[in-house]
Amino acid sequence: MSKMFYPSLIVDSIRDITTELLAENTIKGLILDIDNTLVANHVAEADENAIEWVESIKSAGYKVCIVSNAAKSRVTRFNDKLQLYALHRAMKPMAGAFKKASRMMGLKNANVAVVGDQIFTDVCGGNRAGMFTILVKPIDRKEGKFVQFKRIFEKRVLKRYADKRQG
Ligand SMILES: [Mg+2]
Repeated sequence: MSKMFYPSLIVDSIRDITTELLAENTIKGLILDIDNTLVANHVAEADENAIEWVESIKSAGYKVCIVSNAAKSRVTRFNDKLQLYALHRAMKPMAGAFKKASRMMGLKNANVAVVGDQIFTDVCGGNRAGMFTILVKPIDRKEGKFVQFKRIFEKRVLKRYADKRQG
């Protein structure tokens, strides 16, 4: 199993990503996925939970950029209240948008963490870009057919990841 699929860290939700955790790992900026990471897929605007958490990160001096595979309209509406750097139609897991995001934030790739709910888009792309990768549990279990299909393989990766950690 390729290490490209292994996250640097697994957490339950964005709330577990604290400024202490970022400081420990010499992270200066975050790249955030939207769907099933910050909010459930069907939620159009940033909710209280997402806004509060993002503000706590930003006010501590960290840079934040949204990188989403979603269409411009989805990303723009979601970002309306947050006013973050944002890239849409990112073509994750290709690394291009991640590298562009770190340039926008003025940071080195090694000092950036990618936060997302999918191994084969967020984690894989972040690893390719040489970034720290944080896998969060998906907010909503109701997902499209293609994502459900990918989850089967994600489970296998996570099993091996867990076995490796124990062994
Ligand atoms: Mg997602």
